[in-house]
Amino acid sequence: MPICWLISQEGNHEPIQLPHRQTVTLGRGPETTIKDKKCSRNQVELKADCNKGYIKVKQLGPNPTCVDTVEVGKGMEVKMAHGKKLHMVNQLYPYTVQFKEDPSGEQPAAKRPRKSASGEAEDSGAPLNAKEKQGFWSHGLKATMQDPNMQVYKDDKVVVIKDKYPKARYHWLVLPWESIPNMKALRGEEHGELLRHMQQVGERMVTQCKDSPALRFRCGYHAIPSMSHIHLHVISQDFDSPALKNKKHWNSFTTDYFIESQDVIQMLEKSGKVTVKEGTSEMLNLPLRCHVCHKESATIPSLKDHLKTHFSA
Ligand code: AMP
Ligand code: ZN
Repeated sequence: MPICWLISQEGNHEPIQLPHRQTVTLGRGPETTIKDKKCSRNQVELKADCNKGYIKVKQLGPNPTCVDTVEVGKGMEVKMAHGKKLHMVNQLYPYTVQFKEDPSGEQPAAKRPRKSASGEAEDSGAPLNAKEKQGFWSHGLKATMQDPNMQVYKDDKVVVIKDKYPKARYHWLVLPWESIPNMKALRGEEHGELLRHMQQVGERMVTQCKDSPALRFRCGYHAIPSMSHIHLHVISQDFDSPALKNKKHWNSFTTDYFIESQDVIQMLEKSGKVTVKEGTSEMLNLPLRCHVCHKESATIPSLKDHLKTHFSA
C-alpha cells in the first residue's frame, strides 16, 4: 500500500506521514512550524485513504483552509487528491499531498503519537522510525548533495552540505559520492579508508569554523538513520536551534543512538561490518537529559532554557 505524505511547499519542515485511515490534526505548532495566530492549533483534520489515493480535509479553525482555490469552510470536508495544493490558512502555508509506494512493502507505521503526556510534540520529522524511513523523501539527501548551491566543500571522494534542519548552530553532513545506502552496507576492506577520509573532512570543517575553539563538536552517525545515503553528522554541541523540536531529535544526538565516527571505523576494521545494538531505537524515548551536566528536564522548552546556562548566545 502506498504511503501518504504531506509536504510543505516552503520546505519549512520535513514531510509528515499521514497513516492510512487515521485522523491527524494539524495547525499552528511545532509540527508545522506555523506560528501565525490566524491559524488554529487544530486548524485541519486530515484522513488519508492510501488505497484510494486521496485525503479528506476537514477545516476545524475559523479562518479558511483551501484546497486548490476552493475554501473548505468551517466544519466542512473536501477530498484532496495526489498533487493538489492545500493552503493551511488564509492562502498561506502551502502543502501538497503525495502517495508513494512503500519500497519496504511493509504496512505503514501506526499513527505517530503527536503529543506526549507533557504536551510536547514528539516527532515532526527526522529521525523517523524504521518503517517510516523507507518513505520516498528519505532520498532527499541525494538531491541536495548534487546541488552546487548546497555544497560547502567537495573533493573527489566526498561532499559536505549544511543540514537542512540543523539541530545546532553548526550542523554539516559529509556524504561520499559513492552510493552507500547506510552503515549496514559498509564492508571493512572496501570502505575503511573512505570513512576515515569522511572523518578527516568533518574535522577540517570544525577547524575552519570561526567558533570552533569555543564550541565543542562531535562527528558521528545515527545508529538508525532516517535518510538514505550514508552521511556523517558534524554537529556543534550547543544544540541551539529552532529545528531541534522534540525528544527524538535530542536523544538522537545525545545518547548512544549517536555513534562516534571513530567507533564506527574501529568496528568496521575489527569485524568487517557495522552492527547496531538491539534496543537502540528505544534510546529515542529516554528522558531528556542535559548532555553537559546530566540534569533531567521535563520538556524541550525547559531543556532549552537549561542549555542557556551552559552556552551563551
Ligand atoms: P539521519 O538520517 O537521522 O542521520 O539524519 C538525516 C539528517 O538530514 C537530519 O539531520 C535532517 O535534518 C537532514 N535532512 C533532511 N532532509 C535534508 C535535505 N534535503 N538536505 C539536507 N539535509 C537534510
Ligand atoms: Zn546541564
